[in-house]
Amino acid sequence: MRLVTFIQDGRWRLGAVVGDEIIDLAAAHDALLGGYHIPSDMRSLLEAGPDAWSEVERTLQADDLTPFARPLSGVKLAAPIPNPSKVVAIGQNYMDHVKEQGAEPPDHPIIFAKFPTSVIGLGDEIRWDPALTNKVDWEVELAVVIGREARRVSADRAYDYIFGYTVANDVSARDLQFADGQWVRGKSLDTFCPLGPWIVTKDEIPDPHKLPLRCKVNDEVVQDSCTDQLIFKVPYLIEFLSHAFTLLPGDVILTGTPPGVGHFRTPPRYLQDGDVVTVEIDGIGALSNPCRTEG
Ligand code: ZN
Repeated sequence: MRLVTFIQDGRWRLGAVVGDEIIDLAAAHDALLGGYHIPSDMRSLLEAGPDAWSEVERTLQADDLTPFARPLSGVKLAAPIPNPSKVVAIGQNYMDHVKEQGAEPPDHPIIFAKFPTSVIGLGDEIRWDPALTNKVDWEVELAVVIGREARRVSADRAYDYIFGYTVANDVSARDLQFADGQWVRGKSLDTFCPLGPWIVTKDEIPDPHKLPLRCKVNDEVVQDSCTDQLIFKVPYLIEFLSHAFTLLPGDVILTGTPPGVGHFRTPPRYLQDGDVVTVEIDGIGALSNPCRTEG
């Protein structure tokens, strides 16, 4: 399944993408099945667990969903998880990226946080104040969405705790990131975590380590790699993180970025007002956001 959060009358609603249409899940379930009300936000759906997820599947198997379908192009999407309890991100996790810098791979995952207030969806503006930063950079990343509370989970059980996958742009203010000696401010500016366009459930991604991914600034490809370059694989990341803190349904793990970010180019290159940055992963989708400076 491909699940979205869309906005209707200023409120979140859950939808499923079928072809080039979105099915309004709560409306369809209420009319066709009844007896259970599908929540209005993805985090509540994930917290409700497998019985609720099977209600979503039943809805999509129902006859004649036509009255509850609308064109995808006519719907405003939010981030699929607009309100995660946390976004955990991993640094230096692509072998090709480490080699490019002539560095040694890290002994253990490098972890940092992006605050949930940084999350935006498809088409939302990445905004920054040039008085605060003028070194804003892109990072395409595979994002893992947690489906079950995970505490001290071993790697061999980790897939049981994954709900699905989406695409992230780990937008980074390099001047703040490296001047602070600690990354959270430069990684957590409002709008600096585009997520989406939807969650692809894990049954459609048999192996998350075989996914080509890329980033484009306007029409130029600036990152082009594959998740087979991940140093610490997804199951190990869930083991490592969940031995330190509890992962909750709807939490998002950004797994790291491949080579080609602007800061390490010669000469360095940063996002400018008016640029459109697109991050995409084959088998999941593409996420575009325009860039705007604000005073
Ligand atoms: Zn990153």
